Amino acid sequence: MEIEPAEEVKEPPRIHRLDESVVNRIAAGEVIQRPVSAVKELVENSLDASSTSISVLVKDGGLKLIQVSDDGHGIRYEDLPILCERHTTSKLSKYEDLQSIKSMGFRGEALASMTYVGHVTVTTITRGQLHGYRVSYRDGVMENEPKACAAVKGTQIVIENLFYNMVARRKTLQNSADDYTKIVDLLSRFAIHHIDVSFSCRKHGAARADVHSVATPSRLNAIRSVYGLSVAQNLIKIEASDNDPSSSVFEMDGFISNSNYVAKKTTMVLFINDRLVECTALKRALEVVYVATLPKASKPFIYMSITLPPEHVDVNVHPTKREVSLLNQEVIVEKIQSVVESVLRNSNESRTFQEQTVEATPSVPSVTNNDLHLSPSPSGSKSQRVPVNKIVRTDSSDPAGRMHAYLYKNPQKYLGRDSSLTTVRSSVRQRRNLKETADLTSIQELINDIDRKCHSGLLDIVRQSTYIGMADDVFALLQHNTHLYLANVVNLSKELMYQQVLRRFAHFNAIQLSEPAPLQELIMLALKEEDSDLESNENDDLKKKIAEMNTQLLNQKSEMLEEYFCIFIDSDGNLSRLPILLDQYTPDMDRVPEFVLCLGNDVEWEEEKNCFQSLAAALGNFYAMHPPMLPNPSGKGLEFYRKRKHGKHTQDGGNSCHVDGTAEEDEFEHELLSEAETAWAQREWSIQHVLFPSMRLFLKPPNSMASNGTFVRVASLEKLYKIFERC
Ligand code: ADP
Ligand code: MG
Repeated sequence: MEIEPAEEVKEPPRIHRLDESVVNRIAAGEVIQRPVSAVKELVENSLDASSTSISVLVKDGGLKLIQVSDDGHGIRYEDLPILCERHTTSKLSKYEDLQSIKSMGFRGEALASMTYVGHVTVTTITRGQLHGYRVSYRDGVMENEPKACAAVKGTQIVIENLFYNMVARRKTLQNSADDYTKIVDLLSRFAIHHIDVSFSCRKHGAARADVHSVATPSRLNAIRSVYGLSVAQNLIKIEASDNDPSSSVFEMDGFISNSNYVAKKTTMVLFINDRLVECTALKRALEVVYVATLPKASKPFIYMSITLPPEHVDVNVHPTKREVSLLNQEVIVEKIQSVVESVLRNSNESRTFQEQTVEATPSVPSVTNNDLHLSPSPSGSKSQRVPVNKIVRTDSSDPAGRMHAYLYKNPQKYLGRDSSLTTVRSSVRQRRNLKETADLTSIQELINDIDRKCHSGLLDIVRQSTYIGMADDVFALLQHNTHLYLANVVNLSKELMYQQVLRRFAHFNAIQLSEPAPLQELIMLALKEEDSDLESNENDDLKKKIAEMNTQLLNQKSEMLEEYFCIFIDSDGNLSRLPILLDQYTPDMDRVPEFVLCLGNDVEWEEEKNCFQSLAAALGNFYAMHPPMLPNPSGKGLEFYRKRKHGKHTQDGGNSCHVDGTAEEDEFEHELLSEAETAWAQREWSIQHVLFPSMRLFLKPPNSMASNGTFVRVASLEKLYKIFERC
């Protein structure tokens, strides 16, 4: 083997094929992300087996032990040998079955996955048998022949030492109390939907179960027994349906909280075709309604069950089956939104006027609140009603939908030139404590600016267009009426994130970093990246100084960063928490160093409004859906991943690497390639399922986007049709 001596080229690392067990373990880690995901899979299996009673026992947050016992139909003796192999299922045999799948499982991956990351023991008995069988599995196969044993009706599955072979995962999950809470929450959700099944969930060693429901014909009873009287007595029944194949076909029923229900967080329990799922677009749409109609009860409790023709639901879009995608999702969301809105308006009518002004007045319980039954809003009532999105539009200067009601009318105080941030902050805090809301004048001004600059034509495109797909790394193709547009997703997401920061100001949920990251090192990293070719010591010293100063600065600002932006810096100067700007979306962590540097360098700390604006912009830039750092392997970028054995090491961003060895033409750096493929696929998923639905709900596109190339009209379909006709 000869290496060209010219430059000092580092030997690329050897690439080898991963051991199959490692591949399986990685795949398993995706399906079983944490103990609660294992419990979900097991309970769904029990439900699929027509059980009427399901009990769960958990030790050490699920890491030591998860035991799920049911009284379902059991598993045949003959099936035990392949039970835990990947892609073995009794629920699906051909691809077309997916279209009408009614069971919760279908991929035959869950049990297999568990055996790669934990020790699984199954005890089961089928009807009419005198005894059951017990067998343990590891890495997809039986560890021993099934042993006959005494058993009660159904199946019991025990998982011990989950993630015993994944040190990092175990570490990040050490706070086991956390996962037990999640498991209780999960079982609570199942219990109020499957009311003909009794559920229990208990911590190992505890005498009492934390969830204990008995089968009941009344949903309200189930909610009372699981979530308590304080929730159950403040609920309103809702129903909606549509049966027009040209717009949407669905039925929905549920319970939503009224104006007396006050909570810190929204609870949304959503089942679509009996499948426990999340639908960010729907959740957001309903939150918007609450903020606009019941500002004081704006964190609702919602239980909703939607049924659709099975062929309208794509259940296979998410590795843990958590998100589903629906045909005509926007129409359905809008219809449900308007039903919820009118129910809330009716229920609230008697209290609306006193609510905003007189704090001390005890709330007048509305007589008809409980069990108010409402059918889908008749179309005739349209004229007297203002649709909620309109209300939000005129009110959107106000992130909580109620700013004007609380507005502090003494901006003078903040205009003084010497107002240091600390004094501003403490008076701000006083104000906030007084009203318990983040109604800062400067934030309101920034949101007003967004409104003022909103381009109505683009707003219409954003709200009404259909996402077709990505045209290249940066542009998405949209159809709006008969026109096709290219839309720059980087610009759009940057703006959306910026606006979200201002709207959610001081009300963020947090992303916890698995390992706190030292600011100083992050800044060093970013500085080095900035000028990677100036590597002298002197420069290093300078960089160290800059890093030190910036770290100091950020430490000083940490209280404000945490309180308003949920950017948490601990006393040792580590970054450990970031805000959630859109649910289901975490930013590209490769960009953290750049972001931290930007916080130190680009934020204007002196004046309140500028400070908030530049911070929101920095966050916007960080969270924007930039193309991943690794070149796109499905385009020209594929060349980047071709194995380069001999010399000719052209590395200029990767997009134009040439390889002239013919023998290795098919050799790729598989690990890197698959990392890139995942990153790009995830981004595309987020663009379609998070970015565009959220844009429809929240984005106010600024005028500048009409001329800066963010939207480009590429074709009119009518013209295209004409061209096709001629061909
Ligand atoms: P899937 O649910 O996607 O089919 P799983 O790996 O979760 O895949 O389960 C594999 C198979 O094992 C199921 O198809 C079912 O036949 C059987 N099974 C699993 N759990 C149970 C249970 N609690 N009761 C009866 N059968 C079960
Ligand atoms: Mg399953």
